[in-house]
Amino acid sequence: MYFDEDTRLLVVAAHPDDEVLGCGGTLARAIAQGAQVAVQFLGEGVSVRFPYGQYDSEEFKKQSAVRLEGAKMALASLGITDVTFNHERKCCQFDTVPLTIIVKEIQTVIERFKPTILFTHNPVEVNIDHCITYKAVENACRPTCPFVPKEIYTFEIVCSGNWTFDASFKPNTYVDVSKFWDKKLKAWHCYEGEARPFPFPRSDMGLETISRYRGMACGLEKAEGFKLVRHVI
Ligand SMILES: [Zn+2]
Repeated sequence: MYFDEDTRLLVVAAHPDDEVLGCGGTLARAIAQGAQVAVQFLGEGVSVRFPYGQYDSEEFKKQSAVRLEGAKMALASLGITDVTFNHERKCCQFDTVPLTIIVKEIQTVIERFKPTILFTHNPVEVNIDHCITYKAVENACRPTCPFVPKEIYTFEIVCSGNWTFDASFKPNTYVDVSKFWDKKLKAWHCYEGEARPFPFPRSDMGLETISRYRGMACGLEKAEGFKLVRHVI
């Protein structure tokens, strides 16, 4: 993984906030080194907190608007302007949608943006949307498809990733985000209402803990861990 002016980095994430949790420090670093970054969200991120099917309340509309606004502020704070939302797709319900629809959405963005590097979820997560996003990206990146990036990595989402019964995500690529930690936290704090006190993983301490844990694996103060799943040279 290398970032410069020729790098076109696409993040395919299930929900607004996954991009900051999974790779916010790396995105800040990539932009500082001249990379173009685009983010695609495949769904929204609050409906799971409401009774199934009951999404017409004022409270739902309020929380939904807060999340969308938070995403826009977080991405702006990272310097990312190329963002694709699908705020109509309900979270934790990606399994109710034909996979091919999600695959084609991703292919549309790949064909437009022509990424050289792609980041997405790893398949060992509690959140079913994260698993389906991985599967959809795998399908969208069949080598016969146009403009498939040559480097594809998966990232981890604290909470969904470390609450699995079988914690088998094993990163093999580490990005030093020590100098970009403030940017990651600043972006994370744009997502109002998403944090809770430690030991909730999505607390400031939780995010720092996983970054230090990944850092210890490779001699860095703070790192984000990725798994390289395909590299064509
Ligand atoms: Zn998510």
